[in-house]
Amino acid sequence: MAREDLSDVLSEFARTMVTDFPIQGILDHLVKRIVDVLPITAAGVTLIAPGHDPRYLAASDPSALRFEKLQTELGEGPCLAAYGTGEAISVPDLRSESRFPRFSPRALESGLSAVFTFPLRHRDLQLGALDLYRDEVGPLSLESMAAAQTLADVAAAYLINAQARSDLQDSSDQSREAALHDALTGLPNRVLILQLLEHAFRASRRSGKTSAVFFVDLDRFKEVNDTYGHQVGDDLLVAVAKRLTRVLRPGDSLARLSGDEFVVLCEELADPSEADPIAVRLNAELSRPFVLSGMELKVTASIGIAFTGQSIEAPEELLRDADLAMYRSKRDRAMGYEVRDLRELYLAGHQAGLARSLPGALGRGELHLDYQPIVEARDGRLTGVEALLRWTHPSRGAVSPRVFIPFAEQSGQIIELGQWVLQQAWSDRNQWQRQRPAEIGMSVNVSAHQFMSAGFAASVAKVLDSTSADPGLLTLEVTERLFVRDQERAFVVLDELKELGVKLALDDFGTGYSSLGYLNTLPIDIIKIDQKFIAKLNNPGTQAIVTAIIGLAHSLGMTVVSEGVETTKQRDQVTKLGSDSCQGFYFARPMLASSVDALIKLQADGSNPYLPSKTRIPAVVLDTLSTASADS
Ligand code: C2E
Ligand code: MG
Ligand code: MG
Repeated sequence: MAREDLSDVLSEFARTMVTDFPIQGILDHLVKRIVDVLPITAAGVTLIAPGHDPRYLAASDPSALRFEKLQTELGEGPCLAAYGTGEAISVPDLRSESRFPRFSPRALESGLSAVFTFPLRHRDLQLGALDLYRDEVGPLSLESMAAAQTLADVAAAYLINAQARSDLQDSSDQSREAALHDALTGLPNRVLILQLLEHAFRASRRSGKTSAVFFVDLDRFKEVNDTYGHQVGDDLLVAVAKRLTRVLRPGDSLARLSGDEFVVLCEELADPSEADPIAVRLNAELSRPFVLSGMELKVTASIGIAFTGQSIEAPEELLRDADLAMYRSKRDRAMGYEVRDLRELYLAGHQAGLARSLPGALGRGELHLDYQPIVEARDGRLTGVEALLRWTHPSRGAVSPRVFIPFAEQSGQIIELGQWVLQQAWSDRNQWQRQRPAEIGMSVNVSAHQFMSAGFAASVAKVLDSTSADPGLLTLEVTERLFVRDQERAFVVLDELKELGVKLALDDFGTGYSSLGYLNTLPIDIIKIDQKFIAKLNNPGTQAIVTAIIGLAHSLGMTVVSEGVETTKQRDQVTKLGSDSCQGFYFARPMLASSVDALIKLQADGSNPYLPSKTRIPAVVLDTLSTASADS
């Protein structure tokens, strides 16, 4: 039997499952298709419920029906034997078979020569058996035997599901059934998927295996509705639902939560990596254009994944974590990160549980700031530091800001956090200044959400007013994302900030919508070249881009900081290309405020003015150097 045949049949099953396929339909389909793909003449199935007459029978032709009924009548035969033992039974030559003294002679009489029977079982449950009949003697190949058992297993999994459905239907009226399904696509709705998730949780706990939830959200679906009307929007959703069902494996579920949000539940994965190919296929199914009302529509989707286990206790939490992972993936793509590492998605999904404990982290004293030195490229002289937010979770330890900042952005908490960072950083800087007369600059990251919030410039002004220090020593780092959403508002705030005298830096330059063309329209003082470029400086193409960025920035009166400088070679390269400043592990890792204080002291008394430090660094610095890397 060709592999494609088997996989064709399996995926047909997957498709029938999402529509309300009745038990009889599943069985009829099974016996019909199995005769197409295996070297047999007929096939039959009997479902057996202990203490009852068989509830369901299916047969590929009248002869098979006769053999099925015969076994039931006689209460004897390979079907009952396979059901009873849970093992496959192979009878390559019925003439020399002694186990079925009443069945064999009558079957031989009717032209049967060989029979092969496979139990239908799901976990500990025996459901019945699948009989394959042949009019010639001889064994089935090992491959065909294995294929038949696979089909029997898959059918059993579906039967269990169909059984649960029919039980559900029996026990509830039409309206209850409707309350569990989405009217447009006929898929399970939120209520039903939560029930299925509950079941998945229990199964995971028993088996120790994990279940994965994929949260699929169409990108820019609203635009489809607005542009083509709601009918096309609805048609698209139905078409998307159909495509997604093609990815389902036996036992998987698909639901529509609302609007353009779909959820795929995959139970019993031996390892989270088994989710990889599923995610890839989900993307692949959606990437082919849809043809609706004679138009071709291209659709992309953002996918987030979360797994049972870890700290996730309830179905709602799992859904929410997958949703957060999806949001993160959407955001990263909006920022232009083309390659999405699936591992990162998992990480996001796992760590999304953290999002729930983020509110209150500030009050519990779990947040602090590290500071990473920024130096002159030429000589390594310390000119400023960048404040980097740190969260030490009580049980999970250091959590990267790349993980928790997106959560804070989504919940709006970033405004409160960002304000705290600004105050704390400016106050630390002034503490250093008070002790030694060093003009150390302070760079603070500002997320787009915070930047656009009402009264942002006023809140910066308030922080500046708390001291007499030069506002020009404060740099606010923003990303290009700022200019994507509401450019007009972004420019208004930028101008308000310029009025205050603070400096503005464009962070992670080159990863977003980076168009060199619009740089001259921005009131920006500093460009920070993203570390991805610095890491690939050996590539002549990258060198050319960096050279162009630096050249243009200089001609516009901006200065350039190279981020993520890790080696002497990289420092030499960026210096040669004209970078004014550098930041990176080569010079120093992020460190505690007290260590910055010690560094400034070394610089002030002339004993160690340059980084990387050539003389011995005080212990306090060493201590924090070794811990600061934990989450970077
Ligand atoms: P960023 O602003 O680009 O900060 C630089 C990041 O690069 C820091 O990661 C830093 O530890 C890391 N880094 C510095 N030198 C090197 C190097 O030589 N090699 C490598 N591989 N990495 C280096 P971190 O601390 O994990 O911060 C990640 C991002 O989180 C920041 O990127 C920033 O976008 C965001 N972030 C951090 N603190 C805040 C904050 O207070 N507010 C906001 N809105 N975002 C923040
Ligand atoms: Mg930054
Ligand atoms: Mg950066």
